Amino acid sequence: MTRTLVVVGHGMVGHWLVERVRDRDLEERWRIVILAEEPRPAYDRVSLSSHLEGGADGDAGALDLTGPDLLDDPMADLRLNTTAVSVDRRARTVTSADGTVTGYDALALATGSRPFVPPISGRDLPGCFRYRTVEDIEAIRAASVPGRAGVVVGGGLLGLEAANALRLLGMRPHVVETASHLLPLQIDAGAGQVLADLVGKLGVQPHCGTITRSVDAGPDGRVCAVTLDDHTRLDAALVIFATGVRPRDDLAEPSGLARGPRGGFLVDDHCRTTDPRIWAIGECAAVQGRCYGLVAPGYRMAESVAAQLLGLPARPFAGADTSTRLKLLGVDVASFGDCHAETPGALEFVRHHHRSGSYAKLVLADDSRTLLGGVLAGDTTAYPLLHSLIGRALPAGPEQLLLGTPHQRREPAWT
Ligand SMILES: Cc1cc2nc3c(=O)[nH]c(=O)nc-3n(C[C@H](O)[C@H](O)[C@H](O)COP(=O)(O)OP(=O)(O)OC[C@H]3O[C@@H](n4cnc5c(N)ncnc54)[C@H](O)[C@@H]3O)c2cc1C
Repeated sequence: MTRTLVVVGHGMVGHWLVERVRDRDLEERWRIVILAEEPRPAYDRVSLSSHLEGGADGDAGALDLTGPDLLDDPMADLRLNTTAVSVDRRARTVTSADGTVTGYDALALATGSRPFVPPISGRDLPGCFRYRTVEDIEAIRAASVPGRAGVVVGGGLLGLEAANALRLLGMRPHVVETASHLLPLQIDAGAGQVLADLVGKLGVQPHCGTITRSVDAGPDGRVCAVTLDDHTRLDAALVIFATGVRPRDDLAEPSGLARGPRGGFLVDDHCRTTDPRIWAIGECAAVQGRCYGLVAPGYRMAESVAAQLLGLPARPFAGADTSTRLKLLGVDVASFGDCHAETPGALEFVRHHHRSGSYAKLVLADDSRTLLGGVLAGDTTAYPLLHSLIGRALPAGPEQLLLGTPHQRREPAWT
């Protein structure tokens, strides 16, 4: 007998679930109805900035994750521009904003996150943007003014990506970060300084340890400047908020589903809510109370739920490795394990080579041998080796481990 799976949200993770079920459901046990709020099928949100690099006539279709397989599949019913507004768990139905009621045998919530914008005066002025959807990117491109300054509020991963986008549009980006350094979640102050110096040379001006006091309007009512806490006034033809995200769990309360301590649909390690017919996956899921803002953990959650729906062995979701190695604005940065030395008794070994602009920190356990984590900036060639050694005794002293790269040979001393 064919049953109905309703998936709410056709983002990267919702789509992954649909694909996994369709690929393996050879007996067609599940008909899938996908309620998708956005006007287009799932796309590669992670590569959103590449849409901007495509130029004024950049084709958002290049980001598509959905091919004809799904669109022509009689077992899948994708409903675009459709927002689910309530769930009746007793009747096992989902109601959409247009009043359509859809019955389900199983329900997967994959509603992702929404950008969080702090309550700053002027934040809704014309010329203020978020950085989450194809429409956001297209609006930023349309509002860009080459040669003028633009302000990005938030100096995390997304903020630096947005700053690079402004550079590519010919603007002069400023980045305002409340913490004392850029990328405060991933790296420490030393690496943050290296990053700030290097991106400064590329034309991105960081302003760290300060708060955005207001976004100010010009005579035409549009954004014209941003005022910081120390009364610095930054010229701004546009402002992008990259100040974090919040899980989209609006359906929890009306349907009586529990939330995690920081929001998100509370689920167990198999992504199950307390209702045996309802799962949550991706950024909207608080797995054992914790939300994950990365796509790879979401894919693992989707794999697990697909297996459960098909009666296959399902792996529990056992957390995610948040180690990162990336190139931001052409600058290499990596962090791994306990990069902030939060383990009691942890020891830090730091080496900062000012001339080459590279920084390395290793965090060791109190036995001085077991690697707990670290941070690299400017040169990340040691990352694969160091990442593989997390939780293990170092095969050599921390100084020697970093002797592999030319600049380290020149100045092997740790400070
Ligand atoms: C510019 C950018 C770069 C990024 N880079 C990286 C990266 O390098 N690495 C990485 O791991 N992650 C990155 N991320 C984060 C990554 O994109 C997310 O982790 C991922 O998209 C989460 O997938 P999701 O399906 O849970 O949520 P989403 O992709 O947000 O999809 C959720 C979908 O559900 C829809 N929806 C919400 N509520 C409803 C409703 N009630 N009814 C119907 N539909 C609804 C939304 O409109 C949306 O389409 C990046 C994000 C951005 C914006």
